[in-house]
This record gives sequence, structure tokens and C-alpha cells, in this order.
Amino acid sequence: MVRKYDDFHKSVMIEEVLAYLITEKNGIYVDCTAGEGGHIKAILEFTDKMARIIGVDVDYEVLEIAEQRLKDLSDNVVLIKSSYKDIDMVLRGLGIDKVDGFLMDLGVSTFQLKGENRGFSFTKDEPLDMRMDNQAKKDAAYIVNNYSQEDLRRIIFEYGEEKRFAYSISKSIIKNRPINTTQELVNAIRKGLPISQVHERRRHFATKTFQALRIEVNEELKNIEETLAKFESFLKVGARAAVITFHSLEDRIVKNFFKNNEKYDFLTPKPILPSQEEIKRNPRSRSAKLRVAEYIGV
Ligand code: SAM
Repeated sequence: MVRKYDDFHKSVMIEEVLAYLITEKNGIYVDCTAGEGGHIKAILEFTDKMARIIGVDVDYEVLEIAEQRLKDLSDNVVLIKSSYKDIDMVLRGLGIDKVDGFLMDLGVSTFQLKGENRGFSFTKDEPLDMRMDNQAKKDAAYIVNNYSQEDLRRIIFEYGEEKRFAYSISKSIIKNRPINTTQELVNAIRKGLPISQVHERRRHFATKTFQALRIEVNEELKNIEETLAKFESFLKVGARAAVITFHSLEDRIVKNFFKNNEKYDFLTPKPILPSQEEIKRNPRSRSAKLRVAEYIGV
């Protein structure tokens, strides 16, 4: 059953993505993180519905939203539940040898954050899940209840960029186990922070630890490089790969991959950032960075 959720995810840097990604209006484009289909819809409209689009996502619930949203717009969209790390198998399965562009929009979708019983949000009280792929084995409850304190500290420090308090938060998590709901985790984080940090932070005090766990649950950093490496055998010469990141570690992986790869002309050694106007309209876009590279072959 698809839940009713009318407030679609606000796609980030749409104009910038279209300007860089679309080199042929009737080309084949692959959206590796289809989500609620916002970028796909924009590509269809920009190309007068001439483009053929393959959209992939690990989350079947967001894919159902995308399907409903796009079904009256074009027959030229194929949506497939898969991880982007298997994009080569997906394309081969469809009999596609060459494409005109790849898009990745990393991070979390609004539906995942706001949807029920997904366990991504510290503003709700629900089971501590955070899996984008509901068939994945490890959820956030498993991690907080089974990882060692050192592993939890490292994850919170690196993925959450919770530099000063990763140790005290990880200690509090261990002390407050078992932790099975989002609010139990919020309470453990609160107890691991000095009271001033709980009250005076600009963003909610649990934001960074929740982000860290989400990245660990979904192995968000692990698969990026492996996926980027698969693009080149499918890209036509002159076709492009565009990647939007929301985390400095993700951006570093993307930047280093294209910077050190002679098969690409790296078009954005300085990342493209959202305009002030977009950040105002969609505050979630503030940490987004867009990197684009053009495949030039060997
Ligand atoms: N561009 C989309 C739009 O405009 O509606 C939003 C994409 S959202 C920021 C990121 C999406 O990436 C989520 O729907 C998430 O499920 C998906 N995702 C995360 N890891 C993935 C993976 N390994 N393979 C495929 N999709 C993944």
C-alpha cells in the first residue's frame, strides 16, 4: 500500500543539473537515485519528453511514489528497484550498451524522513530502523545495540562530524542499551551531551548522530566509488556524469574520483552550489554540492 504523501521531495539544483547533464534531448539518461522522481520529471519536461530515462532506487516505497507521479507524463521511463552499485547489471538486463548521462543525488528523500515507521527522524517516536532498502539485514537498532563503543564513536565522529562529543555520546549509548526506538536514542544522545549543547545548538542536538547512523545503516559511502567506476563503460564520448552530495566525505570521494581519472574532463573542480534563493526556498539544499565530469574516453 502506498501511503498518501502529497508534499514531494524538493529536488535540488534542478536547473544546474539540466544545464550540465543534458547533451542530447532524445538521449538515454540514468537516474541512479530516482527517489520521488523529481529530477526525472524535470528531465522529461526539459527534453520535451524525448529523453528515455532509467530510474533506480533501493527504496520501493519512494519508487511507487515516483511511478504514480510520472505515469501520465511519459512511457519513456523505466523504474527499477536496485542499488546503484548494480547499475551495470540493470543496464545490461535492459539491453542498454551506451547512455547519454548518469545522475546521482545522494542522501535522503523527504518521504524517507517524513514517512511513517521509517525511523529516520528524531522528531518522531518509532522503531529505530533507518533502512532505505527494507530487505537490508542491518538496521539502526542493530547497530546501536551491537557495535562496540569504539565503532560507535568512530561512526559518530566521522559520518556525523560530531567532533567534540562523539566519545561521550557513544558511551551514553552503551550505558542506555537496549535502545529500540528513535526517542530512546534521542534520550541517550541527550545524556551524552553537556546541557549547553542540548539547548544552544542551531540544529537539533540529535541531528549529527542520526545522520551518522543513517550513513552506516545504508553503507552510503561504501558504494559510491564502486558505482562511479561502472559509469565509463556505458558513457558515450561527450556524455556526462553529475553527482549531488550532501556530506563532505561523499564530496571528497566524488572529487578525487574524477580529478584522478584521465578518461574524464572534470568540469567542476570547484563544486556548483545552490543559489541563495534556492537555500531560502529549500533549506535542506544548503549543504548540497554538484560535481560534473564529461567522459572523453581513452
Ligand atoms: N533525485 C530525487 C528526486 O528529485 O526526487 C531524490 C533522491 S533522494 C535525495 C536520494 C535517494 O537515493 C533516496 O530515495 C534513496 O532511497 C536512494 N538511495 C540511497 N542509496 C541508494 C543505493 N545504494 N542505490 C539506489 N538508490 C539509493
